[in-house]
Formats: sequence, C-alpha cells, structure tokens
Amino acid sequence: MIKQEIIRVGRKLWDRQYVDGNGGNISYRIAENAVICTPTLCSKADLTPEVLCMVDLEGNQLAGAGKRTSETPLHLEIYRAVPEAKAVVHAHPPHATAYALVGRVPPTCIVPEHEVFVGQVAYAPYETPGTKAFAETVLPFVKTHNTILLGNHGVVCWADTVTHAEWYHEVVDTYCRTLMLAAQLGTPLTRIPGEKAKDLLAVKKRLGLPDARFDLEECKLCDQPEFPGGITACPGACGRSSDLPSDLEVEAMVKAVTDEVLKALNGGPAH
Ligand SMILES: [Zn+2]
Repeated sequence: MIKQEIIRVGRKLWDRQYVDGNGGNISYRIAENAVICTPTLCSKADLTPEVLCMVDLEGNQLAGAGKRTSETPLHLEIYRAVPEAKAVVHAHPPHATAYALVGRVPPTCIVPEHEVFVGQVAYAPYETPGTKAFAETVLPFVKTHNTILLGNHGVVCWADTVTHAEWYHEVVDTYCRTLMLAAQLGTPLTRIPGEKAKDLLAVKKRLGLPDARFDLEECKLCDQPEFPGGITACPGACGRSSDLPSDLEVEAMVKAVTDEVLKALNGGPAH
C-alpha cells in the first residue's frame, strides 16, 4: 500500500517536471525505527515495489534491491527532529528552486491556499548534497516549516503522508510561478490584511500544520522583505499601518490642497 503510494508520488513528481534524471527522493516512516525510501540512480518515473529500500533511523539499509538514496541523511534528520513528520519528499520544482538559487523566500499573505498549506517558507543555505552537513542545514527551520528551500539546490517538504508532502511541492511551486507572473504585470501585489491572515492561520492550526507565526501579533503576520514589483497594503511594522491614510483620505487631502491652490490663484473658491 505505502509502496504503491510512493510509486504514484514518484510518477507525479516526474510528470510535473519536478525531477529530472535520477533527481529527487521520497521516504515514509513506517515504524519508530524503520523508513521506506527510494533508491539512488533511479528515475522517479520508473519506481517499482522491488527497488524501494528500507533503512533504520541511523541510515543502515535493512532491505531492498536498490541502494538507498544518497539523500537518506536529509530525510532521517527530519524524522529525528520532528515526530509528526511521517513522510519526506525532496525534489527540484523549477519555480521554487529559482527562489532557492537567488537565496530568497517568497513573500507571505498573498494567496490563501499557500498560507494554509505551506505559508512561510524557510531557506537553508547551500551545503554539498548527500553530506551530513547538508542534512543538518534544515534543522533550525524544520519544526516550524513544512517546506524549506535548499540553497542552490531545490525543495524539501515533510508531511503526515507522502501524498501530502508532494502536494506542498505543488502548492509552493505554483505559488512561486504565479508570483513571477504577477511581478511582470507592473502593478504592486495586493497583500491579504493581517486580520484576515489570522483567519487562515487559525484554519492551519486546526489542520495540525506547522507555522512559525502562530503566536505573533496580527500586525506582524505579514512582515516580509521587499518583493520585485512591490506589495501594496503591506501592514509593515506594528502600529504603522493604522497611521497610514487610506486612498479616500489621500484623495480628499489632494482635493483640499488643489482647492486651496486654485482659490489662491483665482482669488475665489474653485468650481
Ligand atoms: Zn536534490
């Protein structure tokens, strides 16, 4: 059953062009000290039950015709750090990976679905793939983020099921792609207001998904670094957003000033 799910997810990753060659890897923790994972040097489109491997939490191979993925240490670090993590999927979805290449995370509070299922994305700096040092780069973020950009490399997601860990790749990659398209429109992005973002985080908490922002004040939920094309309605630092005049207030002020100028020029009220 679980092997069939891993095979199905491998096919989805390949069909969506989230993996190339033998790239990407999938694992599922079937017991306290046993993890099923994909083998090295095998396309995710060509997985079969026979080639899947089983390892313990130290990385020793217990079963399987293939040799365990070289990214086993990354998967195991996540399982050891996060008891809720039952599945880990690592792939190279192009749009999210583009963010990983430039060392930036996408802004929050733009698309509701992304907020609920992924939300704040973490960025782990580059290390040589397959090494213990690489595996450990995710540790500072993995308890509070289910989706991490791996510097100059790709994406890793954890979830309760393999299917869900693949969904998060879809959600984050589509999000990054949509942001890239929106940035080309030449109009600043409109942000979901903090009080509405709080509603989304409440849904997220009910679903049992992690987020580093659960305990933040409403006005801090959407604080993010600058984004190309800009973001409007950014609440910025706490207390600042309410000080900013609304569009209508600005319009009224402009009209008042214009009226005054015209009055001065014409020596009477403007019509
Ligand atoms: Zn990779």
